[in-house]
Amino acid sequence: MAPLVSRRHYSEINPTPIFHLTETEEMLKESVARFSKEVILPKVREMDEAEMMDRGIVEQLFEQGVMGIEIGEEYGGSGMSFGSAVVAIEELARVDPSVSVLVDVHNTLVNTAFRTYGSAALKKKYLPRLATGTVGSFCLSEPASGSDAFALQTKAIKSSSGGSYKITGQKMWITNAAESEIFIVFANIAPERGYKGITAFIVEKGMPGFAIAKKEKKLGIKASSTCVLTFDDVEVPAENLLGNEGEGYKYAISLLNEGRIGIAAQMTGLALGAWENAVKYVWNDRKQFGKYIGEFQGMQFQIAQARTEIEAARALVYNAVRVKEAGGARAGEGFVKEAAMAKLYASQVAQRVSGSAIEWMGGMGFVREGLAEKFWRDSKIGAIYEGTSNIQLQTIAKLLQKEYKV
Ligand SMILES: Cc1cc2nc3c(=O)[nH]c(=O)nc-3n(C[C@H](O)[C@H](O)[C@H](O)COP(=O)(O)OP(=O)(O)OC[C@H]3O[C@@H](n4cnc5c(N)ncnc54)[C@H](O)[C@@H]3O)c2cc1C
Repeated sequence: MAPLVSRRHYSEINPTPIFHLTETEEMLKESVARFSKEVILPKVREMDEAEMMDRGIVEQLFEQGVMGIEIGEEYGGSGMSFGSAVVAIEELARVDPSVSVLVDVHNTLVNTAFRTYGSAALKKKYLPRLATGTVGSFCLSEPASGSDAFALQTKAIKSSSGGSYKITGQKMWITNAAESEIFIVFANIAPERGYKGITAFIVEKGMPGFAIAKKEKKLGIKASSTCVLTFDDVEVPAENLLGNEGEGYKYAISLLNEGRIGIAAQMTGLALGAWENAVKYVWNDRKQFGKYIGEFQGMQFQIAQARTEIEAARALVYNAVRVKEAGGARAGEGFVKEAAMAKLYASQVAQRVSGSAIEWMGGMGFVREGLAEKFWRDSKIGAIYEGTSNIQLQTIAKLLQKEYKV
């Protein structure tokens, strides 16, 4: 019989609490928190009402280095870790989930796509721009393909010389599109091969035949642009092929697995922001029956329950981060289940907590003067983008079944 405790199950290093951050992450957290409070907070309401991202904020995000967190210093980036990107996304969402998703999509989907799959020439051409001043978008979804993303119908046809491709089709729900100049576009070069024809291309704003057809009006994250894009025989040079022909589906799966941890962090930050906004009011401002409303036990228990759920969501998020950084739970297993669980749960907590926070504040939670109602509207998107909650549940169940099926 094997010994109960075998060598491979323990390490010489004491495990640290899951919320322990590296020195770099801690410094970034502090500076992003300060930036959010001083620069973003005064503009949050105005941007939401105008349904427009403030250009100055985007410029300052680049100046602060948060648009190139994982991009190497040789390309003008900050050369930090994935954990740092997650910390920044969470901190930004505590103040404005719209700014947070702009940074999230740009870093975890767009920059990572170039860093991971880009040729040396593509990296040299695009990473310095993405790190220092040009916003990017990730274009997978279409009118007829959302959850079933690989049923996409946008096509790319290679020229007879092989020197270029022509892209035709439509993309929908594209985050950052109004601010972006660089677009990663998934198109099928061989529809007869199904998803194995899906290929990723780099399209630039201004290429003939490429247009933003519509900017959506939304329930939440209103300052974050979400657009319909059209491609009418857009000619893309062959060097703008990202990675290899027919491998786009693999890249999309892998990028979205990572991206989901970012969205989970966005939702955790949002939940904390909503909670903090409400407790400030109930513990310091509002009195009824002669005492602060947050001092009634009926309120205290709800507040304590909500904060416990936020901490549980954060634990799932940072566990997913560390599992990913360590290269997967065990060799070959990856971090897919951890990321799906984190996103599923964090978006549920965000919705629940931000909804309760409105009630804790009574009428003051319901009006557009403060931020309580905005946090709740913004929370709804967590259960939709980068894989709906049902899709996360499907992924989790599939992986569990694989683990337990004899
Ligand atoms: C604000 C916003 C920003 C976005 N940003 C981007 C972006 O930058 N890039 C991009 O490519 N896409 C983006 N998206 C698209 C997003 O990823 C999709 O909306 C999402 O994948 C869901 O697709 P859908 O909206 O077509 O819903 P559908 O797929 O039609 O789903 C509708 C409902 O059916 C359920 N459902 C579908 N299939 C199943 C199933 N097999 N089992 C159980 N239930 C199922 C879903 O869970 C959901 O509840 C964005 C969307 C929004 C709203």
